[in-house]
Amino acid sequence: MPPRPFSPGTQDEAFLRRALELAQENVAKGDGGPFGAVIVQDGRVIAEGWNKVIATHDPTAHAEIEAIRAACRQIQHFHLSGATLYASSEPCPLCLAAAYWAKVARIVYANDRNEAAAVGFCDDDLYQEFRLPPESRRIPCQHLNLKDASAPFEAWRKSPRKQNY
Ligand SMILES: [Zn+2]
Repeated sequence: MPPRPFSPGTQDEAFLRRALELAQENVAKGDGGPFGAVIVQDGRVIAEGWNKVIATHDPTAHAEIEAIRAACRQIQHFHLSGATLYASSEPCPLCLAAAYWAKVARIVYANDRNEAAAVGFCDDDLYQEFRLPPESRRIPCQHLNLKDASAPFEAWRKSPRKQNY
């Protein structure tokens, strides 16, 4: 089934407005940047999140990550099947990757990456960085080919606790 297009005036708009409200509230609260997120499954909000990078000293405490973690705790599963992630701003690469790991069905956002960049959140820089070969990135990423490095993989492959995610 192709993804539903975003339609103003529908439930989509109401949920997206809630994400924006969380973003706005966070400016006064000061937990972090002006970002909010809401996760909806089966037509109801199962979790909300807002940026807590400053309050928690956690560079990964983005609104979408907070919302995904809360949603997964709520449903006690690591996949958010059929869920929609509403974000006040276009998800950064960290949050986009998290949305893929969580297997959300759809993402709807309000402000785009250029609008976020205009107030100092330059996600586009990261998108460009990841396109570079690992050795050319600002943070050098080196592959050391150790002989026994695959031992944990071998153990996982044989483990009765293995779950595919
Ligand atoms: Zn993010």
